Amino acid sequence: MYDYLIIGGGISGLLTALELRRAGLKVCVLEKNTTGQESSWAGGGILSPLYPWRYPSAVTALAQWSQTHYAHYADELHQQSGIDPEYVGNGLLIIDSDEVQVAQNWAVANQVNLQYLDAEALKACEPELADYAQALWLPEVGQLRNPRLMKSLRQAALNAGVEIREHCPVLNLQTEGQQITGVVTPQGIINAGQVVVTSGAWSDGVLASLNLGLPVEPVRGQMIVFAAQAGLVSRIVLANQHYVIPRRDGHVLVGSTVEYVGFDKHTTDVALEELKYAGFNLIPRLADYEVTKHWAGLRPGSKHGIPYIGEHPEIKGLFINAGHFRNGVVLGIASARLLADIALQRTPILDPQPYRVGRFEA
Ligand SMILES: Cc1cc2nc3c(=O)[nH]c(=O)nc-3n(C[C@H](O)[C@H](O)[C@H](O)COP(=O)(O)OP(=O)(O)OC[C@H]3O[C@@H](n4cnc5c(N)ncnc54)[C@H](O)[C@@H]3O)c2cc1C
Repeated sequence: MYDYLIIGGGISGLLTALELRRAGLKVCVLEKNTTGQESSWAGGGILSPLYPWRYPSAVTALAQWSQTHYAHYADELHQQSGIDPEYVGNGLLIIDSDEVQVAQNWAVANQVNLQYLDAEALKACEPELADYAQALWLPEVGQLRNPRLMKSLRQAALNAGVEIREHCPVLNLQTEGQQITGVVTPQGIINAGQVVVTSGAWSDGVLASLNLGLPVEPVRGQMIVFAAQAGLVSRIVLANQHYVIPRRDGHVLVGSTVEYVGFDKHTTDVALEELKYAGFNLIPRLADYEVTKHWAGLRPGSKHGIPYIGEHPEIKGLFINAGHFRNGVVLGIASARLLADIALQRTPILDPQPYRVGRFEA
């Protein structure tokens, strides 16, 4: 008998499983396909919300906790799994400049290192960037390489003693009275006194078997990658809602679209053109390189991007860690830790109130 069943093997599920396992519990992750192939695979791995000053303090609080711990966490993951998640602390340049004052006020209030760069300073640090008059510079923002991160997490979880059952979709949740007792899968019933829903964009559907809901919906994001060479661009650069992310090997990702099209993961020619255009506008020399891949993922969209973290108010033992929308990687380690703190009744790293499940019913 397991202590905890975790439904979904994306970043939320694997991080939660690791937290609970490290507390000595018997944990099993149930994944309908294979772990780390959905949104957590598709994302850019930027360890900051885009335009962070536009987010509510609930998102900032989780992001800041994670940002303080991620470099060390990535290092530990590398050691525990033998797979490098490729943490790079190369900073984030934000070109859109009409919010300089708001951003600076936010940075002061939140003790964030944010610097103003004029055209000359900008050209000096990113010579291949198109001509822009000014930028905001967040030097402490890092990134992870999602597919590597997910492989590393999977291996670290297995090495720590987490059981992972792939091709094991959860069809229904099971309860007795108001207590969760397990889940139903095609391979049979699996019993546990605690269940955590970490099913990303599918979380609402998982809860539907108990006639419960969660206001989390799929939001498609498309990305492309150029097979560029190392040194073309060094920093993450964001302008007009699009960004370029240089990886260690020189590959440059350009993202992303934000599309409300249901559970449709197809890529489109329109998005390909949009992303290429955005990339060329930022780094004109990207036009010298081939787009080698174009993909899409389904973000777990939630209102204001505030995830649901905590126990369900109606069902004892049913926990949620879902709805991280555009920030599931940067919010990931803080969210998993907070969920474990709540479930294990430890002193929480942050006030859990803003993330409580059921807040939508108020
Ligand atoms: C294009 C794009 C760019 C992004 N860029 C960034 C970024 O730069 N920084 C950042 O922080 N975030 C980014 N994100 C967002 C981030 O990727 C997501 O918030 C995060 O991956 C969500 O993780 P998750 O584990 O909750 O969901 P998922 O990764 O989608 O995992 C959910 C898992 O649950 C499984 N599942 C579903 N239903 C069931 C069931 N019934 N039974 C068993 N298993 C089930 C699924 O198969 C899946 O593996 C981006 C997302 C996209 C799409």
